[in-house]
Amino acid sequence: MAQRQRTARTRTGTKKPSRTRTSKKSTESNESFDIVTRNLAAQYRPKVLEDYVGQEASVKKIKGWIKSKTFPQTILIHGETGAGKTTLAMLIARYVNCETLSACGKCSYCSYEKELPDVTYVNAGEQSGVDDMRNLVATSNTSPRYRRRFNIVDEVHLLSGKALEALLIPLEQPSPKTIWILCTTEVDKIKKTMFNRCQDLALRPVAPELIAERLHDIVELEGIETSKEDNLEDALMTIAEYSQGQVRLALSQLDGLLSAVASGDAALDDKSVVQLYEQSSGADSEKLAVSFFVYTVSQDLFGMMNILSRVENTHEFINKLAWFLKWYTDYVVKLVNYVPPIGKSYFTAKKNLETKHKEKINVSLPLIVKVADILDKAHHTILTVPAINAANHLRVRFSSMVVEDVIFARLSADAGNKPRELGIIEHEDEEDSEDGSRNNKLRSKSRKPSKSRRASR
Ligand SMILES: [Zn+2]
Repeated sequence: MAQRQRTARTRTGTKKPSRTRTSKKSTESNESFDIVTRNLAAQYRPKVLEDYVGQEASVKKIKGWIKSKTFPQTILIHGETGAGKTTLAMLIARYVNCETLSACGKCSYCSYEKELPDVTYVNAGEQSGVDDMRNLVATSNTSPRYRRRFNIVDEVHLLSGKALEALLIPLEQPSPKTIWILCTTEVDKIKKTMFNRCQDLALRPVAPELIAERLHDIVELEGIETSKEDNLEDALMTIAEYSQGQVRLALSQLDGLLSAVASGDAALDDKSVVQLYEQSSGADSEKLAVSFFVYTVSQDLFGMMNILSRVENTHEFINKLAWFLKWYTDYVVKLVNYVPPIGKSYFTAKKNLETKHKEKINVSLPLIVKVADILDKAHHTILTVPAINAANHLRVRFSSMVVEDVIFARLSADAGNKPRELGIIEHEDEEDSEDGSRNNKLRSKSRKPSKSRRASR
């Protein structure tokens, strides 16, 4: 009930898509026309915790701080790219600086839409030097206009050694009027000295059902009309499944669908969602990532190199593969029970290869760890080198991994030992999934978003 009321408030507080008038002088006649610009992710960036879906544990913690009027001075928010770390940081600032600590939507602080006063945001990926941190520390000593000043350092694991040192002292004894919020995708890389000084908020990929529910609310708020031929629920659920647990990604896909519907190129149904996705660069990278992984587990070096040579967007490819590995590991240890489209493609590709070679492909946990490790290192390398070098880096790393494994197997065989059986982690229900039946069961259950449905983890 509380959630409904909150949503209703957002409804009144949210502007309709802004209309941008085109420049008059550019048209020969005096004719002018309007265009509609829509950016659902920006428009529906949550301004209250109730709209921040799928992160119950973190939201509960923050509500506890609000209730006790006691906030930590240093907060560490960690989660994958697109998990909503910055959004949550801004939400905390909204609550702390709201007159009534409630993000009321009415007071002077709450009236700010985007650029919040007393909030300084630094991305350590771009400003990682010691001077950048010293400047930030200096601002933390000036008085805020509202209750507290917020210094947000994004991608904090990328800070250089000296910059990190410059930050550690103020984190130890922060100025009483400043709250530091550190965000990272790589919590394992945060030094203990820093981690121990923070209260941490861990963000998880959001369950598809919850994302579909949020999309449903937004479609209602946007006043989108549906016709008999439309199949809105299926469309939204399919978007949610394609979004890798990221609300922001789901919203940009919904943007794309609504534009295509408006131009008459698509209908509001799951078929259109799949079609639009198939045309996106993300889908290409996803297919390549899946094929690459199947070749990797079957130790087909030629296949692997062939795939790598076809990768156009190395960054996206690495992200897709890393996300797939993360999901796959969670799936086999039964932390999650849904099969996203990338998972379905993987099971199909694996089955095809098994049929072709007439033998079962076993996936070992150490292999997944190795691939994940290479991707992790590659991710850092490609942030700093041109794409072509990044692609070469991948080729060299993966070739040496396979060659190493093949040599090891050969040596073991020569020594009269059977090659070591590495912890096989085949999922017992996987057979069901390969024809999609298990997943279909899950899907049909989750067609209709309901408020009571829990996250799948
Ligand atoms: Zn307020």
